[in-house]
Amino acid sequence: MIPYGKQNITEEDIKVVSEALKADFLTQGPKILEFEKLFANYIGSKFAVAVSNGTAALHLSTLALGVQEGDKVITTPITFAASANCIRYCGGEVVFSDIDPETYLLDIEKVEALLKASPKGTYKGIVPVDFAGRAVNLEAFRKLANEYDLWILEDSCHSPGGYFVDSTGKQQNCGNGNFAELAIFSFHPVKHIATGEGGMVTTNNEELYKKLLELRTHGITRDASVFKNSKSFAAGQEVPESSSYPAWYMEMQTLGYNYRFTDFQAALGISQLSRADKGLERRRAIAKKYFDVFSKNSKIIGQSGVIDGHAYHLYVIEIEDRLGLYNYLREHQIFAQIHYIPCHLMPYYQEFGWKVGDMLISENYYKNCISLPMFPTLTEEEQDFVIEKVLSFLK
Ligand SMILES: *Cc1c(COP(=O)(O)O)cnc(C)c1O
Repeated sequence: MIPYGKQNITEEDIKVVSEALKADFLTQGPKILEFEKLFANYIGSKFAVAVSNGTAALHLSTLALGVQEGDKVITTPITFAASANCIRYCGGEVVFSDIDPETYLLDIEKVEALLKASPKGTYKGIVPVDFAGRAVNLEAFRKLANEYDLWILEDSCHSPGGYFVDSTGKQQNCGNGNFAELAIFSFHPVKHIATGEGGMVTTNNEELYKKLLELRTHGITRDASVFKNSKSFAAGQEVPESSSYPAWYMEMQTLGYNYRFTDFQAALGISQLSRADKGLERRRAIAKKYFDVFSKNSKIIGQSGVIDGHAYHLYVIEIEDRLGLYNYLREHQIFAQIHYIPCHLMPYYQEFGWKVGDMLISENYYKNCISLPMFPTLTEEEQDFVIEKVLSFLK
């Protein structure tokens, strides 16, 4: 059986997790901070906050950005539902905007048209997604966001190690915080770095970083410099104002959650991160091989292609009889997948008035798209088998 994506757990991974399990900390321990620092360094952001999964990372982000009841936020329909759901968690309104048929990413011209059509202040933010691993040009989105006073939350779940080149020729890594207020990642088994469940928020903004830390753990702070209650109250008896707060004392100052990561997952994450570049290199080689063969076939009407800075979480091709190919591959134990069923047509979002025909490019893309096996441990023989089966179906 060949899946579309798969984790890679090595003996070294097993060793570091076993060691972490023998240490003093099972949940919030020293490995988490170490992983956060290494991850921030890898991505090129100042700060990183590890959380229990990518969806929690999205939720904490919309909370930290202050999304409120009725706030309009723009995102793409071609994404995993969580990119939109995080807006709903805070009572915001999801406004879908169509994709570019070439890149499969949120079409900036359509977003601009949306913004232009309403008075300034109508929209609060944008959630662009580096779909399939292709980096959104966030420099362009930042310009637009500044014009309309919007925040940007980059969903980089598909793109650790991905980048785009900015107008000065500089490489800008997905999630590096240079253009977006916040970016998020997932460590679900099909993603580049796998820790079972897990997620990360990256940012260059210290204020947001501190908010995220607090929200991750019930809204509780142990920082005496921000305590609101008096020292005497904290101590439970009269103490001089010059004394310090008792060591046990902490305050819940906002409504937070338990979205913590665990120390043994962080140990796994650190080990996985050390191989991230190797995995990325392999993904790019797999993409090149698919492209070299499929670019010669006129029945393939679209595909991910060979793009600098693409992190290749997915390799998508578009063909006419997608259902036929999907079933044919399954008969041969190749489990391709479809990414994504347009989010605006999920029955939940249809309840808000979204309907067939609202996002024509995304809807047409959905009819033809299929994601072929793409993961670092896919062997040459397995990929050759996948290619052979795709070609024999198209004949
Ligand atoms: C995987 C994924 C998520 C959610 O991550 P989880 O860790 O599964 O909660 C969000 N957005 C995108 C684009 C994803 O691929």
